[in-house]
This record gives sequence, structure tokens and C-alpha cells, in this order.
Amino acid sequence: MNIVIVEDDPQIASFLSRGLRAEGYATSIISDGESAARAVPTMADDIDLVLLDLGLPLRDGKSVLSQWRAEKFVKPVIILTARDEVAEKVKGLNAGATDYVTKPFSFDELLARIRAALRTYDSASLTTLEVADVTFDMLSKVAFRGGKRIELAQREWSLLELFMRNPHQVLSRIQILNHVWDYSFDPGSNIVDVYVGYLRKKINISGHEPLIQTVRGAGYRFIPPSSKFS
Ligand code: CA
Repeated sequence: MNIVIVEDDPQIASFLSRGLRAEGYATSIISDGESAARAVPTMADDIDLVLLDLGLPLRDGKSVLSQWRAEKFVKPVIILTARDEVAEKVKGLNAGATDYVTKPFSFDELLARIRAALRTYDSASLTTLEVADVTFDMLSKVAFRGGKRIELAQREWSLLELFMRNPHQVLSRIQILNHVWDYSFDPGSNIVDVYVGYLRKKINISGHEPLIQTVRGAGYRFIPPSSKFS
């Protein structure tokens, strides 16, 4: 677990770093806003969490955080600040902070918040399906393709979830009907074809390869773009 500490006060930074290392975390320290804005997104894959001071030289922590989030840095960020006003907290959370700790804080409290933020982040990644350039968030029922947000109606997201859990497999109309609708539904109905049509219209966005293939006489198959099966 790698924690980046963005803090210009050398005493606080080294106190945090020593404490976190004693708990088994790896740490690195960045001491100004400009360097933090540049460095963090480029090492995003190696970072598990960031502790971010708001009052930083060269650039304010809040604007740094907004830039990270705009650049799709999604890891947890806990703001550390002496500014104990509700308005400041709200601004920090709106800028994309995961949590907020007010100085002076106890190390144990900070540690508990770090653990909670890491746990929440981990469980969120279990609720997301990803196949090629399509992401589906099973909690919010929103899909993303190539970074574009796709709103789905209830049957559409059930259908997409079924396809994404079974990529490359041919799913018959009856299988789809049984998963997405209930068993009492008339199997002679063309509702599956109608909804596959709706879903195709939404996820086949221009500039991206089509995803749902009709397999004549058998059903449908979800083919990730550029896969060896296509
Ligand atoms: Ca500071």
C-alpha cells in the first residue's frame, strides 16, 4: 500500500510518514501544489491513497484535487487541513475529496479514516464490470463507453449485465428472456429483439466498434471490440 503525502510543513510530513511506515505503508512526500498536480496522475497506478494539505505553496490543494479528478485520478484522497469550517469541507468534498480530517488530529483517527477509505475503494471496484472499453457500474446502473456516460433503463441494464458477464458466448432468446424478464413471459414474443435493439442504439456510439452480434438462428453474442473472435 502506497500513500502519497502532499504537505509543505516538514514536521507534519515526517510525523505522518514515520507513523504510516510503522503501520506497514510505503510513503512518499510532495511538498508543493504544482509538483503534486503534475506527479500524482502520472504515477496513479502505484498510488493507493493521497493525504492532501489544502494550504500549499505554488498552488492551493483544492485546485490540485480538481485537476486530478478532471484527469481521471480516481484513488481516495483525504484532505488534511486546519480550516475547520463547514463551507471549506463542502468545497473540498465537492472538489472530489473522499474524506476530511481537521488539524490537529490524532494519528489513530487518521489511520481509521485511511483504512475506511481504502476499504470503500476496494468494494467499489467489485461492483464494476469491465469488458474492453465498456464499464458498467452495478450500483448506479450507469455504463460508460470510451469515457462517455450511457444512461440505461431497467431492462437495458439487466441485459447489458447479462452480456458483460458472458462475453463471447451465444445467448439464446430464451436464456435472455429467462434472465432479464420472468419465466412466465411468452417465449414467442419479440421483446428480446426489441430490447437488444434499444441497447445497441445506446452502446454503439460513433467511432467505436459495434458490440452485440446477431447469431442467426441462435441468439446474440456480446463481442468485445477488436477481440480475436470478431
Ligand atoms: Ca500547509
